[in-house]
Amino acid sequence: MSTPILLLNAGSSSIKYQVIDADDEAVIASGIVQRIGDEYGTIDHTVAGTTHFMERGFPNHSRALTVMVQLFNEHGPALSDVVAVGHRTVHGGAAFNSTTLITDEMLEHLRELSPLAPLHNPPAIAGIEAARRALPDVPHVAIFDTAFFSSLPAEAYTYALDGTVAKTHGIRKYGFHGTSHSFVSRKVAEFLGRPYESFNQIVCHLGNGASISAIRNGVAVDTSMGLTPLAGLVMGTRSGDVDPGLHAFLSRQGGMSIDDIDNLLNKKSGMLGLCGATDFRDINDLVAEGNADAALAVDVYVHRLLSYIGSYVAVLGGIDALTFTAGVGENNPSIRKAIVNRLAGLGFVLDDAANDVRSKEPRRISTADSPVAVLVVPTNEELAMARETKAAIS
Ligand code: ADP
Repeated sequence: MSTPILLLNAGSSSIKYQVIDADDEAVIASGIVQRIGDEYGTIDHTVAGTTHFMERGFPNHSRALTVMVQLFNEHGPALSDVVAVGHRTVHGGAAFNSTTLITDEMLEHLRELSPLAPLHNPPAIAGIEAARRALPDVPHVAIFDTAFFSSLPAEAYTYALDGTVAKTHGIRKYGFHGTSHSFVSRKVAEFLGRPYESFNQIVCHLGNGASISAIRNGVAVDTSMGLTPLAGLVMGTRSGDVDPGLHAFLSRQGGMSIDDIDNLLNKKSGMLGLCGATDFRDINDLVAEGNADAALAVDVYVHRLLSYIGSYVAVLGGIDALTFTAGVGENNPSIRKAIVNRLAGLGFVLDDAANDVRSKEPRRISTADSPVAVLVVPTNEELAMARETKAAIS
């Protein structure tokens, strides 16, 4: 017996998917449809260790889903065995605080939230609609990136803006990457053998997108992303925090439109804007070659992250654990070292040898006598989504 759950993560031009057995948590199949909307797209479908590749035009998400279903029919696993579908949904606004069963009414409500996440929610909704047509007989649930941060206190989520403007437009900090922060912070408790509710921790999710969270006794109390996933840390192509006056300045002095500025900050900034590369493997090579822009980019990245960690240590009044996760956090010992060594004054002591170990397992990279435990814990958003989906349907 197995309980296969299909997890879908629909972005603007891609759909990533996995089928996970909710009983033993094994990955049964996985795949990615890319370049939806272009003349030619691709789909990679992996099952039982074999990847099946197809090139095809996918004018929209609906067509991509149809072809994905064809690949399931040809190569397995049987979609008729799937018991539920979990959809990654970026923005739940203030309305959706937890994983929610998708109904027509719920979807209508979700559509109303699209202005809050114009880049993320419309493709997710298109994916949900197409998947409900393809698999009409099983429950579909939405798992929100924002849900874990619905516990933020008002002092942390309120922007110092005119109250009427904020209220009219739903402007506040929502936070994102919540599925990962929740999964990783619970793993930290498991790893340390401590009840989740009994200690304070900071989680750094450092991937292409990056965010940091402050968690007091198992409750998220602050995070670096805000109304949108643009705020906070320096990311692959996103600027993170800039002076809020920048928009007016670029509009008046640079003659840029709002769309130009949005594009600049989301797509052409971050590490890409600073040094022309987004991947830390390339950036590390550039630094090794003596590239000054790359060296400055890394310094800016570390400085921003360090500022947030210091701020969250203060918000929490001290911490027991600091954890790194996601692509950069899991695979880049030099960033971890740069951060932890500069926190020596706050009770962090790095174990250099442990930091250099490569592993897919949760591990401690601080010395045994370091007052704060520093950990690397691989994230697994799909597994977290499978657990959420299973809980929501049972
Ligand atoms: P996403 O936000 O797209 O899910 P990931 O969490 O997969 O991102 O992180 C991708 C990033 O992780 C890459 O752009 C790269 O900077 C970094 N990364 C991945 N593997 C390595 C590695 N072996 N060494 C250094 N950095 C790595």
